[in-house]
Amino acid sequence: MRADHSHPGSRFVDFVHGFGALADAETDEARLRAQGGALLRELVSHDDWLAPDDARPDPQRYRQNLLHLDPARRFSVVAFVWGPGQQTPIHDHTVWGLIGMLRGAETSQGYRFAGATKMVEDGPPTLIRPGQVAAVGPRIGDVHRVRNAFDDRVSISIHVYGGDIGALSRSLYLEDGTRQPFVSGYSPPWTPTVPSHRIAP
Ligand code: FE
Repeated sequence: MRADHSHPGSRFVDFVHGFGALADAETDEARLRAQGGALLRELVSHDDWLAPDDARPDPQRYRQNLLHLDPARRFSVVAFVWGPGQQTPIHDHTVWGLIGMLRGAETSQGYRFAGATKMVEDGPPTLIRPGQVAAVGPRIGDVHRVRNAFDDRVSISIHVYGGDIGALSRSLYLEDGTRQPFVSGYSPPWTPTVPSHRIAP
């Protein structure tokens, strides 16, 4: 990995190259999570590289900004931007995922089925802070609800998933155990500001 971080964006370029090299070398999921988690921890231990447009909250709902999709769709990198108090429904991923906290803090509450028609909280919630990394996945606990730990400020986490997460067939869950098919997609890019007036020729 290059040591020159004179341009903040180079941190992210290095991260993507490093993750691609890891995906070339390693197919074991547990080792991918462990070594990929170390790369992600390094990335989110510096909060100087995310482009301002990828850090803007939407007052209506949390944003999922696609930062990188591996050409072979082995992994995707998404910036989650949480407005104050925003949260996800209970959902699964179907692939491994790594969550690195960049700014603010985020709470994850795991869920599990207790019988066919009831979902219950699975242990206490987990709080992650800047520089910390958590993992999800079918082998280690894949169903959770995530929320901004703050009701008065924006939080941002960087997620890496073992596939094209926005295109995968996944599920949302209600606490009565109801399951709904779900494809998250990605948030559309911010549209450039249109000038509010024009000067007549
Ligand atoms: Fe999730």
